[in-house]
Amino acid sequence: MIFDTHAHYDDEAFNEDRGELLGNLQSQGIGAVVNIGASIATSRNTIALTEKYPFIYGAIGVHPNETAELNEAKLAWLKEEAAREKIVAIGEIGLDYYWDEPDHETQKHWFVRQLDLAGEVNLPIVVHSRDAAKDTLDIIKASGARDMGGVIHCFSYGVEMAREYLNMGFYLGIGGVLTFKNGKKLKEVAAYAPLEQIVLETDCPYLAPVPNRGRRNSSLNLPYVVAALAEIKGISEEEVMEVTWKNAENVYRICVPRE
Ligand SMILES: [Zn+2]
Repeated sequence: MIFDTHAHYDDEAFNEDRGELLGNLQSQGIGAVVNIGASIATSRNTIALTEKYPFIYGAIGVHPNETAELNEAKLAWLKEEAAREKIVAIGEIGLDYYWDEPDHETQKHWFVRQLDLAGEVNLPIVVHSRDAAKDTLDIIKASGARDMGGVIHCFSYGVEMAREYLNMGFYLGIGGVLTFKNGKKLKEVAAYAPLEQIVLETDCPYLAPVPNRGRRNSSLNLPYVVAALAEIKGISEEEVMEVTWKNAENVYRICVPRE
């Protein structure tokens, strides 16, 4: 069974066939999914998915590029909803300087406030960090939320930066990029990081692995990532699935029944 630790099944890319796709995931080897909020609206959609499907859990939070919409009242709403049993993390939160929207100061402000929130509700964090390596690390190191642990999702930095997060006990989220021809840096990180600190993720509908690169992604593509990781680590695909499943349960502090 495979655990998809980061998906966006509320995305409109799944409007045509969401029910059919999700209804069939478990029979095709995908045992659990964490759907990730990226705004107030998608956090609300995430909660709805966790209510509908027993094997779907959720993270709620506001993505750095969406933080212009945040205010203290919305943050209070997130805090209230974070108490739900199937909400297992605060995320995705972080910094994204690839898109300068909104400005860096606004992104940083709401990253810190959402880290505070994770500490208050005692939940791990799901971090999105793009072209913002130093600021992300500095802020997490200074935050009490580092003790909550969590996932550095779609890890895109090198081995040096990976070491920093691994030393703090974080997990690295690895997905389709591992199969890309230009994914050399991530392959090095995957070889370096202990398997016990890696979790599998799709980030679907984005980042489909080869041979489906460029098409709509779903958890059904994760076996390609499993195969790539097994090859890099020189172990069986079974072991990759087993260990990353346990890692996902550990980081999100849940125990998912497996059929
Ligand atoms: Zn995402």
